[in-house]
Amino acid sequence: MPLEWPEELIAVLACPKCKGELDRLDEPEGFGCRHCGLFYAVTDGIPDFLIEDAIPWDPAAGMER
Ligand SMILES: [Zn+2]
Repeated sequence: MPLEWPEELIAVLACPKCKGELDRLDEPEGFGCRHCGLFYAVTDGIPDFLIEDAIPWDPAAGMER
């Protein structure tokens, strides 16, 4: 079950690599950076913002808008 993330918390989150804005994703749960094409997974409610743990992410494929 996805956790509810306060808007204030999401607003201060930034990509550790480029300091850019992150997109919050629900499935799988985590945060994606469009600039770097990296996905930072959330495990048990804890975001993993280690660059070496980030997963390659295609914003076009991962977003549905
Ligand atoms: Zn980035």
